[in-house]
Amino acid sequence: MGTHYQAVKAADGSLLPGEFLITPVSEVNVILERAQKAFWVYQKISQEQRAVFLLRIAEEIEAIGSALIERSMAEAGLPEARMRAERLRTVNQLKNFSRILHVGEWQEPSINTGNSERPDLRKRLEPIGPVVVFGASNFPLAYSAGGGDTASALAAGCSVIVKAHPAHPGTSEMVAEAIIKAAKVTGMPEHIYQHVHDTGFELGQALVKHPLTTAVGFTGSLTGGRALFDIASNRKHPIPVYAEMGSTNPIVILPNVLKEERRTFWVDQFKQSLTLNCGQFCTNPGLMIAIDSKEIQFFMNDFESAISKESSQLMLHDGITKAYQEHKVRLKEYTTVEFYYEGEAKDARSASPALARVGGKAFIENPHLHEEVFGPYSLMVLCEDKEELEAVLHALQGQLTGTIVGGEKELNDYQKSIEILKSKVGRLIFNGVPTGVSVNGSMHHGGPYPATTNAYFSAVGDDAIKRFVRPVTYQNCPQDHLPAILKDPNPNNWCRRINGSYTFDAVQ
Ligand code: NAP
Repeated sequence: MGTHYQAVKAADGSLLPGEFLITPVSEVNVILERAQKAFWVYQKISQEQRAVFLLRIAEEIEAIGSALIERSMAEAGLPEARMRAERLRTVNQLKNFSRILHVGEWQEPSINTGNSERPDLRKRLEPIGPVVVFGASNFPLAYSAGGGDTASALAAGCSVIVKAHPAHPGTSEMVAEAIIKAAKVTGMPEHIYQHVHDTGFELGQALVKHPLTTAVGFTGSLTGGRALFDIASNRKHPIPVYAEMGSTNPIVILPNVLKEERRTFWVDQFKQSLTLNCGQFCTNPGLMIAIDSKEIQFFMNDFESAISKESSQLMLHDGITKAYQEHKVRLKEYTTVEFYYEGEAKDARSASPALARVGGKAFIENPHLHEEVFGPYSLMVLCEDKEELEAVLHALQGQLTGTIVGGEKELNDYQKSIEILKSKVGRLIFNGVPTGVSVNGSMHHGGPYPATTNAYFSAVGDDAIKRFVRPVTYQNCPQDHLPAILKDPNPNNWCRRINGSYTFDAVQ
């Protein structure tokens, strides 16, 4: 293997300018020791200073200007509007964590005052140490070098090592330089953030295995996420891997909602959700479930007709295009699956939408039909009746999202189906589509396995910070040794739980 590699232009496979040094595995120990040293200093730095650092990162990323947009478009093959929106989201995530640090309550401070009979107990969330982040191919900005995992880990007080995704090394490098510059300007410890490259698995696995690594953030394939999860679990000291992987994001379509007057609206909604950026979203609607009827057949005809007008789009990288085509070939081998629409791709780097259908019983019996097909593909599961619909929902794997589309009265009639769907998902959507993930405190972007490796945590929004902290209780700790948020009097008037009640008051 060479020591350098070049980025590939998604549109035609030509090489883009710039050579990226592949980090030798022999350097992993030095990288983690540096990260650990930086962590010891960084965890003591005030929340306000950390907030300034995050804001500065946002500013430095914005300052790269159109060069970042152009490079990410070339590497990922995504359109300009998408990359501009993604940059905005990336910058806003950083600003949001900066705001959270000023508020302070995210540390969940809890105080139970002591007396002659019981000890004084004070608890808060504390950063865990060096975190390894894997850049995601489908979000070159929002889930990569300076994306949500990096922002939340830095906000938590951890040092970060990013393994760039080899599909967008130039984009990743530009963002990494911005973060390192922001760290210098704001006086953060050296190596608080490190950025490495590899074109294979060896370096990433070595980073996960290293004893100083305390957690891993990952977005990608089930195979990749599971491999890293197993490595982390088999360490002498296992660590959490927060992997976001395969989800088919089922949409349950109830009978009455597809009446002629509403059909056009829903066909358009589903078409947009399925085909946006060639379906390369973790929340892509890969599964639709309905009771077979005349109306659903009309819906499928209209859906097919709408989808057939969509032109093929570039995919992120060759591996993803190949996986999409191979998945479809495998699905066609099942006699129970009927492809009722499949568009033609304009070239070997692009993909077109595809729609297939299967009966409820056949779906339940074939586990391969439950797997994510990454791209603009959706499988319609047609059930005989309500009982079969419930059985299909029971058979589903864990999902990031589950959607139910129906009229008000119908929702009451299908309460049990809604309950079953809820038990499988991290986000339950009513009368909407799964794509489009708002970034705020109420968003849970996670779900039971295989959607993620830990359904308790969110990869998006304020609570993403919780992945990189752990609770620590200080018992009978002298005031001078307490972190600011646990001291008396109440610093910054933060809301704390004192003797069981949430209050802004000082401890009496
Ligand atoms: P990926 O293959 O899972 O790779 C993601 C990152 O993890 C890359 O840096 C990759 O390294 C690394 N990696 C993968 N397997 C590994 C292993 N066994 N050990 C160590 N490192 C490993 O994902 P991708 O390249 O983005 O796309 C491939 C497939 O992933 C897609 O076809 C799709 O099915 C799925 N995907 C799903 C989502 C989602 O949100 N659900 C998002 C993106 C992709 P290298 O690339 O350097 O080898």
